[in-house]
Amino acid sequence: MSYQPTVTVVGSINMDLVVSTDVMPLQGETVLGNNFATYPGGKGANQAVAAARMGANVNMIGAVGGDIFGRDLLQHLHNENIDTTAVHVFDSIPSGTATIILSEQDNRIIVAPGTNGMLSPELVQNHKSMIKDSDVILLQLEIPIETISYVASLAYDMGIPVILNPAPYQKLPSALLSQVEFLTPNETEASSLLKDPVLDILREKMIITQGDQGVVIHQNESDITIPGYKVPARDTTGAGDTFNGALATQLAKGKRLEKAVMYANAAAAMSVTKLGAQSGMPMKDEVEQFLQ
Ligand code: ADP
Repeated sequence: MSYQPTVTVVGSINMDLVVSTDVMPLQGETVLGNNFATYPGGKGANQAVAAARMGANVNMIGAVGGDIFGRDLLQHLHNENIDTTAVHVFDSIPSGTATIILSEQDNRIIVAPGTNGMLSPELVQNHKSMIKDSDVILLQLEIPIETISYVASLAYDMGIPVILNPAPYQKLPSALLSQVEFLTPNETEASSLLKDPVLDILREKMIITQGDQGVVIHQNESDITIPGYKVPARDTTGAGDTFNGALATQLAKGKRLEKAVMYANAAAAMSVTKLGAQSGMPMKDEVEQFLQ
């Protein structure tokens, strides 16, 4: 048996509400749509699921509402063998949702943070020991920035490496940038981040995902490119989340950066061959078979 690493994700948990329609409603208009479905999502939860499927012990620190979505989201995390003792339930606040309208021409999305916005540093403070007992901490930007900064500084002081997936992009405090071990932007996020002079100095922390082109690692002034796999892509939603969950698990196992990125690149490529963000994420055994 290889070492089972522990990854703690501090991040968002959402219910995605997806409706498809032939025509987008104009302002003030109501149209009849096609199918409606709900899918568990949120970058935090997605990355937690990816890490769990890659074989890590995963703790989720997050928040849901006391509504039906909250109960469903918690159950779903349980089903993926994720420890939810640090997921707070706020009885009178709605769970986070992403309302997604899909049509042939375009997609429109409204995210309502709900309880994700309630995940304060004070709440996370109750789970210091969970953070201390982790091999890697995985963060994204869908919870309050004060909480992200608090977790990064706590983990930094404890000597626990932090991977920050800077999505969706926002400008980041310099202290936070100096306390994370790795940043994992996609190309768009990377070009925004690199406008910040602080990040130009911290370039070696950047692992940039580039869709079907693979991944670039900045190291000691020289770049290492890990080419993408040629796969039949059906749905790229959640590719970045799969990459981050897999990368965190591999680094938590003590793998070298380049090897860990190669593994995560394969896991993410496999995820795009299937529909859905979480439902398309592969299991560890499937990735290992793919890599043989
Ligand atoms: P995000 O989903 O966050 O926008 P990317 O589009 O860069 O991030 O995708 C993340 C990773 O997923 C890539 O680095 C690559 O490993 C994999 N990936 C994404 N799209 C494809 C594709 N079409 N073919 C193969 N791999 C892909």
